[in-house]
Amino acid sequence: MRGPSNYSPLAMSDRPNLKDYSLERLRECFVGEGLPAYRADQIAGWIYQRGVEDFAEMSDLDRALRERLQAEWQIRCLEIDRLDRSTDGTLKAILLAADGAQVESVLIPEADRTTLCVSTQVGCAMACTFCATGALGFTRNLTTAEIVEQVCRMREILDEPRKITNIVFMGMGEPLLNLAAVSEAIAILVNPKTFAMAPRRVTVSTVGVLPKIEELLAVAPINLAVSLHATTDRVRDQLVPLNQRYPLDALLDLLRKLDSVNHRRPVFFEYTLIEGVNDSLEDARRLPALLRGIPSKLNLIPMNPHPESVYRPPSDAAIDAFLRVLAGAGMTVTLRRSRGDDIGAACGQLALRRTGAAAA
Ligand code: SAH
Repeated sequence: MRGPSNYSPLAMSDRPNLKDYSLERLRECFVGEGLPAYRADQIAGWIYQRGVEDFAEMSDLDRALRERLQAEWQIRCLEIDRLDRSTDGTLKAILLAADGAQVESVLIPEADRTTLCVSTQVGCAMACTFCATGALGFTRNLTTAEIVEQVCRMREILDEPRKITNIVFMGMGEPLLNLAAVSEAIAILVNPKTFAMAPRRVTVSTVGVLPKIEELLAVAPINLAVSLHATTDRVRDQLVPLNQRYPLDALLDLLRKLDSVNHRRPVFFEYTLIEGVNDSLEDARRLPALLRGIPSKLNLIPMNPHPESVYRPPSDAAIDAFLRVLAGAGMTVTLRRSRGDDIGAACGQLALRRTGAAAA
């Protein structure tokens, strides 16, 4: 593994960033500036397929063009500021933006895949009561370039021949409240001429911003994950304040109708198990009926405790009992032990170090 890069801190610049543009839009933009569209394809190939971010190295561009591009555009926008490695191999990076904003990404190498978890906002406005990012509040949206850049910077720290195989939009922020930037980033991930990722290897998670879900799924046949966390509005209102605006029935009704637009992909439900809050056997018994009619998979994640929250995970016995009820009802359910909890990289722990809370 290579260490954080030695680039000097980024200077603020008003030049547009190439990574803010999907290939289609970059072609249009180049044509508008009197350049042939194929120049956009060449440059995108250098950046995304070959990892070259210096115009001087783009050898199929003539010198005059390289100098012009250098004067008018920028390519890089985040640098790794800090990298922590968990005992389980998970890597958490804090990347620094030009304005000093800190962006967190988590790389999870496993035997058969390498997943990158990207952030879409600095902080989060959703204020979910069990989530450390929620406690931090919202600072700003990330740009498309800053989302894509997390992939560019994080793939550089992998040892050959390991490659990022899956991308999950499950870092800091609510992707559907930054949908324009997220959609453009997805377009760059899945285009065969840029990152060329299979759409089914990309997953976007939402707390349930209902009016935006269909728009997201129209971008590409990616996976949708929904943070469920409760079986009643009373409990979900308390855990996910957005539920007061878009309650369970409305959420599940919409997902039931999605089947045709969701490219026949199952919905991935995330359910953070919290002791004494949403872990009762009644909850387990309610789940199958609640999710009936929605092709789905359920991921149970025991609450990752952190000092910002009074909530705790249930005992192993309680988790087992919960699982048994679901399995008995024939549900597809997996228990996810979050990775990287020793470095504050686990689900819901992003932002921990910065608040200093983890030092306690
Ligand atoms: N805002 C989106 C994207 C973030 S995904 C969303 O919430 O879906 C991060 C996932 O981690 C969400 O399912 C979230 O509910 C879960 N999570 C947050 N805090 C957690 C904690 N302390 N323990 C376990 N899971 C947590």
